Amino acid sequence: MDRASSLSGTSKDAFENFMDQRTKVYIWDMDETLILLKSLLNGMYANSFNGSKDVKKGLEIGEMWEKLILDLCDGYFFYEQIENFNEPSLDALHQFDDGRDLSDYDFCGDELGPPQNDTNKRKLSYRLRVVASMYEQGLQSIFGKDTRDHWDALYEMTDKYTDGWLSSARSFLEQCSSGEDYPFPKLEANNHISSNANKMHYVNVLVTSGSLIPSLAKCLLFRFDKLIKHADVYSSWDVGKPQCFKWIKEKFNGPKVQFCVIGDGWEECEAAEAMRWPFVKIDLSPSGSHRFPGLTMRTLGYYFSVVYGQNTGDDTEE
Ligand SMILES: [Mg+2]
Repeated sequence: MDRASSLSGTSKDAFENFMDQRTKVYIWDMDETLILLKSLLNGMYANSFNGSKDVKKGLEIGEMWEKLILDLCDGYFFYEQIENFNEPSLDALHQFDDGRDLSDYDFCGDELGPPQNDTNKRKLSYRLRVVASMYEQGLQSIFGKDTRDHWDALYEMTDKYTDGWLSSARSFLEQCSSGEDYPFPKLEANNHISSNANKMHYVNVLVTSGSLIPSLAKCLLFRFDKLIKHADVYSSWDVGKPQCFKWIKEKFNGPKVQFCVIGDGWEECEAAEAMRWPFVKIDLSPSGSHRFPGLTMRTLGYYFSVVYGQNTGDDTEE
């Protein structure tokens, strides 16, 4: 199995068939793009409002999120055991996983060491498999009622404090996934919707400089887990964004595939330029439009058209 199909967990034929179709791949940064956290903790978000936002409240909200993220990582994702063994994705050690039933596996007593040999890589791959499975289940089935209530309240409080940044980013991702705001498929003469060959596909991918396990926890806690598959979450912590972008290009490459990078940092900007992909720079400042709420599909379409030309597969670009 080649790298692309092994990463996606699909058969090669099915994958090539998919990639032969018109596809847009949105590559998202996490922090200060889809979510706000560091800028709440260091006051940068509040300060950009010139005094109209309570800096201390932002800090308190940020600290509550940090605690919730760490509790999830430590309580369910083996983070105390694997904190120093960061991998670029949950599928990175897939080849070492022999698929054994883990229901009675002793995660506390298997003496996991640094993944420098096949035995420890296998032990680590088991843990990554469990994390992937929990990600698929979602937090509703992991958290008890008290934690769920606290999480809901914190999400609402943060969304209010940030004028809807979280919910707006989430609904934008939803639009990206569904192709909403794009024309519906054309009806053929026999009144059937035209075949899949003309259908546009949309994929959201996350590439974050944070380490993998807390980033997956953030995806769950900030409610992106139904919009970004666990196999499409990458940590560039050790390998850098250029390497992650190359893997993503290998994974999704095809004649009709277009990529777009959305983030706030120089690293994703330079990596996008090197790949000749459009880059949309997110800006915290309240007067800007490249932020949440503010960013529109029309703006994204404009960036696509600058790099890929006017005929990008839909007609919404200016
Ligand atoms: Mg960022």
